[in-house]
Amino acid sequence: MSVAQNLVCIKETLPENVTLVAVSKFHPEQVIREAYDAGQRVFGESRVQELCRKRLQLPGDIHWHFIGSLQTNKVKDIAPFIELIHSVDSLKLLKEIDKQAAKNNRVINVLLEIHVAQEPTKHGLTPEESVVLLKSEEFKSLRHVRMCGIMGMATNTDDETVVRQEFHRLHELFVLLANECFPSEPSFSILSMGMSHDYRLAVEEGSTMVRIGTDIFGEREY
Ligand SMILES: *Cc1c(COP(=O)(O)O)cnc(C)c1O
Repeated sequence: MSVAQNLVCIKETLPENVTLVAVSKFHPEQVIREAYDAGQRVFGESRVQELCRKRLQLPGDIHWHFIGSLQTNKVKDIAPFIELIHSVDSLKLLKEIDKQAAKNNRVINVLLEIHVAQEPTKHGLTPEESVVLLKSEEFKSLRHVRMCGIMGMATNTDDETVVRQEFHRLHELFVLLANECFPSEPSFSILSMGMSHDYRLAVEEGSTMVRIGTDIFGEREY
């Protein structure tokens, strides 16, 4: 099936309140354009250099999301244009995003990346660490980041029970943080979870944003 057909199939299964991020990392501009021509406007990339290169060659009304691990010294390269950073996993990174956002006279939307999977290699804060960060005075003093929610990945396993449990925990944390830390801020509204192999479960467990690459563009060639 074509990229456009894949998009139609996926969109048919997604509830209206769930945003689709088309994860285009490692895929060439030409197939991103196919998705763009089919109406897709939100794309996710995981490497700064690759993102900056693609952005210059593709239409200016694309909403670019950053979903990969982000080094503090690269924040300045995406700060002028990035729409949402999903992968914030430290106060240090958050402060750098705030600083670069201020330089660009803007407020950058971010999500905290939460670690719930069993794999030790995955990035992210523990649920407890996320509460501490969001309640800290240092966080509250930042004026150029807008905390919009959390992002997480489930363990890469065929065991649906494990995956569902992890998504469930992310949803519980999302609700807790919304109530405890952002009771009067409607912008804390994004629960980014679900990839090609598990987004159906993620949606059932309350995801509001899925990040899908392979099911749209096919396998990546590294
Ligand atoms: C690559 C990536 C995805 C997309 O994965 P697929 O299995 O191709 O859908 C989603 N989220 C993150 C954080 C990724 O790095």
